[in-house]
Formats: sequence, structure tokens, C-alpha cells
Amino acid sequence: MEAIEKKRILVIEDEVHIADGIRLNLSLQGYHVKIAIDGLEGLAQWRSWKPDLIILDIMLPMIDGFSILKTIRQEDEKIPVLILSARGDTKDKVKGLRYGVDDYLSKPFDLEEFLLRVERLIKKKTWYEDDKKNRKSGYKMFKGDYYDFGDNHIDFVTFKARCAVGEIILTEQEIVLLKLFIANKGKPMSREMLLTAGWGYSRDTSTRTVDNFIVRFRKYFEKKPKKPVYFISRRSVGYVFDHD
Ligand code: CA
Repeated sequence: MEAIEKKRILVIEDEVHIADGIRLNLSLQGYHVKIAIDGLEGLAQWRSWKPDLIILDIMLPMIDGFSILKTIRQEDEKIPVLILSARGDTKDKVKGLRYGVDDYLSKPFDLEEFLLRVERLIKKKTWYEDDKKNRKSGYKMFKGDYYDFGDNHIDFVTFKARCAVGEIILTEQEIVLLKLFIANKGKPMSREMLLTAGWGYSRDTSTRTVDNFIVRFRKYFEKKPKKPVYFISRRSVGYVFDHD
């Protein structure tokens, strides 16, 4: 295994103090950040540097944010783009969404919320990539933003779930496994398959790991964890997730 590469974030923003603040805070989170101070430079950096996420201002010198977004989307439908706009105008938001923006935040923004959204977008990109890998090996992953079953509600955007034990925050690994289960609803899945699909590659994990996750899921989502109705064991097979 090669060392984990830093995720690259391109910030296209002409207000220097905002750009610098963003760079500082994202660097502290372990991201590799580059700043482009106008639209032309932004597009050039996007092509040459191939970032994992773009943070895009709308009012920019040379080429405005919407035109940049349009150009990017013609060539790349998957790269996550977060618009950071001074204008809280809903028209802008709608326009951004129409052009394929993934998220939208108006300035001034809350730093914590901003970092959370960045993290989610970066994860989303990783999922697309994992999903591609998984599709090759025949595993489907749930792609929606949220999912309901019984009295449970899972929000895949914020990682929050409302469930039998109240409101909880799920871990990334729990989210991956839940996406797998949901996409394969009603289909029995072996521990080995869950392990390979959920963890992507076999490392120092045993099939016991999967059992531990199931114990947790039952505690979270089952009214009676000892008598599960959603995360059901299949003797000599593994597990099946099912509901009406
Ligand atoms: Ca600006």
C-alpha cells in the first residue's frame, strides 16, 4: 500500500482574506489546498492539478463562477463543487443546482459547518470511486441522501440517524455497510462478501468484524435487538437486511 495521499482542494476565490482563511483551516484538517484568484486561473488549475474538490466563488474576475461550473460539468460530472457565494439569493442557488453544483453555502459562513460540508463532499467522491470498484466486483451501493425503514431514519449527508436509541452519529464504516445492505435489500450476503465490499480490500480484518457491526446495527435500529427483524442472520450464509 502506498501512503495515503492528501486530498486536493482547489479554492477559486478572489477575496484574499477569505481565500487565506479557507486555506489555513483546510490545511489544518490535512487537506492540500491551492488558491486561484480569478476564473481563468481556476479553470487552468482544475485541468492541470485535478483536485478532489472545488470551492467556487460566483463573483470572480475574468470568468464568473457559474460559467466555470458549466465548463467543468461538460467534462466532469463527478468532481464535487461547493459554491461559496456572497449572494444568499435563492435564484443563485437554483441556478447553481441546475448547473450541477453539489453544495451551496452563503458568506459569511460558519467555519464548522463549512468544514463538515467539505468533508462530506470529499467522502462522496471517495464513494463514487469505491462504487465504481464495487460495481466491477458486482456490489451495489445505495446512492440516496437518506433512507427510512420502520421508525428509523438515516441521513447519509450528515451521518446522523434517528433510531431506537435516539439520535446518533454513524461512523464512515457504518455508513458504507448500511449503503451496501440497503442496496442489496432482501439479498442474503456472506460475511466475506460484506467484508470485501465494505472494506474494499482484505486487510487485517476478520469476519468477526462484520458480526460486531451487526450487533451495533441491531442495537441502533431494532426495537428488540435480541429479536431482530431488519438485520437478520442466515445460518451458514451471513446476513440479510430486509423490511416492508
Ligand atoms: Ca468574489
